[in-house]
Amino acid sequence: MKIANNTVVTMDYELRLADDDVIDSDAAFSFLIGHDNIVPGLEAQLLGLSQGDKRDISVEAAQGYGARDEDLVVLVPRSEMPDDFVVEIGIPVELEDEDGETSMAFVAGVEDDHVVLDRNHPLADETLNFRITIGEVRAATAEELTHGHVHGPGGHHH
Ligand code: ZN
Repeated sequence: MKIANNTVVTMDYELRLADDDVIDSDAAFSFLIGHDNIVPGLEAQLLGLSQGDKRDISVEAAQGYGARDEDLVVLVPRSEMPDDFVVEIGIPVELEDEDGETSMAFVAGVEDDHVVLDRNHPLADETLNFRITIGEVRAATAEELTHGHVHGPGGHHH
């Protein structure tokens, strides 16, 4: 079966950045095609592949995690952080707005009595170099399509 929208793909991958260090890998990563499970530039280049195919796939930032936006760097008074908060560069923090919507930020530093939070994705501005081998490709179940993600091995269990 070829990879197309609404198929479930399991693949082995390594992700490298420009410096050639492997920053992420998974021997059996499962995801649903056509439901924003993976960055668009990777998904587009997987379409039409099938089990056993190996590729080196390069994804520009614009088709990956986007360009850095300095407006997404915000200063939060330390007094607004939880009492037990310990500043550690790079740790993720969950932010909540007035409507209760949550989003992720990363601690980027400290300035006087403020914590610097960066809401950019840590891989913004990066060219992503994937080395992939396609494993199983199957049609998604009706339930997976409704949920927008994969169930079972390598996916959600609920
Ligand atoms: Zn589900």
